[in-house]
Amino acid sequence: MKLADLYARPGLTLSVEFFPPKTEKGEESLFNEIELIKRIHPGFCSVTYGAGGSTREKTVDLVEAIHEKCGLEVMCHLTVVGQSKADARAILERLRRKKIENLLALGGDPPQGTADWRPHPDGFQHAIELVREARAMGVFSIAVAGFPEVHPRAASRESDLFFLRQKVEAGAAAVITQLFFDNDDYFRFVEDLAKLGVTVPIVPGILPILSAPQVRRFASLCCAKIPAALENQLKRVEADDNAAVDLGIEYATRQCEGLIKFGVPGLHFYSLNKSHSVLAICKNLAF
Ligand code: FAD
Repeated sequence: MKLADLYARPGLTLSVEFFPPKTEKGEESLFNEIELIKRIHPGFCSVTYGAGGSTREKTVDLVEAIHEKCGLEVMCHLTVVGQSKADARAILERLRRKKIENLLALGGDPPQGTADWRPHPDGFQHAIELVREARAMGVFSIAVAGFPEVHPRAASRESDLFFLRQKVEAGAAAVITQLFFDNDDYFRFVEDLAKLGVTVPIVPGILPILSAPQVRRFASLCCAKIPAALENQLKRVEADDNAAVDLGIEYATRQCEGLIKFGVPGLHFYSLNKSHSVLAICKNLAF
């Protein structure tokens, strides 16, 4: 089912993000986790495209495997960075042939070990060009990324919102947000987009914390702030990952309760290929 139709259904659409494992063992474990995740009846899952386009084949292979074997709707992430227009078009064509209908069109993170984002000499410059390209094929329902705390490379908050609106006008059916830990950032983001006339679903991205050092690293990579109260809690679980997982479940449960009260169209979980926290949060929320 297409994203646009999934979010048009009554109720909340749950979705879960995975990344392509590096090893066969990791892949086997992921398919077990996917089976467990199916208990919460996600509307769809998504598969990331590695930094700098590094997991290209693995991403599409995994998307196809989920599509064919798991009985779960799947959305393929596709990025502009690190590949030519011809490469991006070849991936879109492969997805079209396999009847994969949902796409997350992204600028992409720079390759690991590099700080700078540089467009490919023969590539697209921005995610909007990928939205237009995919849209023109007439078969995809397309989501784009949104940044409640402003994209790190944006010239200003206003310009970031302006370009996001352009992506929606170019045909994006939904916005999925970067992770954030303060719901007020999301509320302000949604309200500002509404003022600009953006009416598509703005789906919050939720990261269940799995360890204190890891969440600090992720937050620093995407410039998401960790509120002081959460940072104090993280200090207490610094060297105890089991306690960090419990803290993450509790924090994300409270965050989701606030978001549901606000009226979000869905919840998108950054699962890090682990079902435990996602299932526990959904159980707390009575899903
Ligand atoms: P763009 O829309 O191209 O925006 C990038 C920057 O350029 C922004 O600052 C924007 O304000 C500005 N901009 C946009 N359009 C224009 C324009 N026309 N002219 C001038 N400036 C413009 N990264 C990966 O590598 N792989 C993934 O799988 C992945 N999955 C993600 C999933 C989600 C839900 C999210 C929120 C992010 C994900 N990312 C992923 C990270 C994302 O690719 C990076 O944060 C990237 O730097 C920005 O992507 P974008 O799609 O917003 O890019």
